[in-house]
Amino acid sequence: MSETGGGGSRGRLIVLSGPSGVGKDTVIRRLLEFAPELRRPVAFTTRLPRPGEQDGRDYSFVSEEKFLAMTRAGEFLETALVHGHHYGTACSRVDELRRSERDVLLKIDVQGAAQLRQQGSDATFIFLAPPSQEVLLARLTARHTESPRELAIRTRDAKRELAEAGWYHHVVVNDRVDRAAREIAEIVARDPR
Ligand code: 5GP
Repeated sequence: MSETGGGGSRGRLIVLSGPSGVGKDTVIRRLLEFAPELRRPVAFTTRLPRPGEQDGRDYSFVSEEKFLAMTRAGEFLETALVHGHHYGTACSRVDELRRSERDVLLKIDVQGAAQLRQQGSDATFIFLAPPSQEVLLARLTARHTESPRELAIRTRDAKRELAEAGWYHHVVVNDRVDRAAREIAEIVARDPR
């Protein structure tokens, strides 16, 4: 499913990817303080909510059946199977924001980002990288939000995701949250795409 066009001026699309545990959520929280004009459409997922997560705020949590029906109906701009769970961005949520000239930030994994690139998306692709693979694995283990099985899957996937950084327009190293968020805000401010 490709992005639907439509005339007139549209907000920009900023894609932020990076392996599990790299600190995307923390950096995004800080980034939104520097760039409060950015809007984040709520994504759909079939994974269960973590403690503290709210349906409709953090994700729209849906059954696998519902997710697959939406996929068949062409409702997703991109989808991915991440760590055994489906994730997807609804076209309607992105289009609505961009048509109202809002800049849209998507936190999506590398599979979803690659789909957008293949569609010829006009997005700015930013990869958030850890200072090193060792730091990433230590952060993943310290998080304690995943079962040992989930952790093993995420560790394997993190290594695969790191290998994808090369094709992104920008790679930002999350050495310090504040610095990384500021660098992304600067990219957003000056990127002509
Ligand atoms: P988490 O379950 O930890 O919130 O997210 C796991 C992974 O799924 C992260 O790498 C995140 O970027 C990715 N993800 C979250 N929402 C979407 C989405 O809508 N599409 C895609 N492709 N990936 C997503």
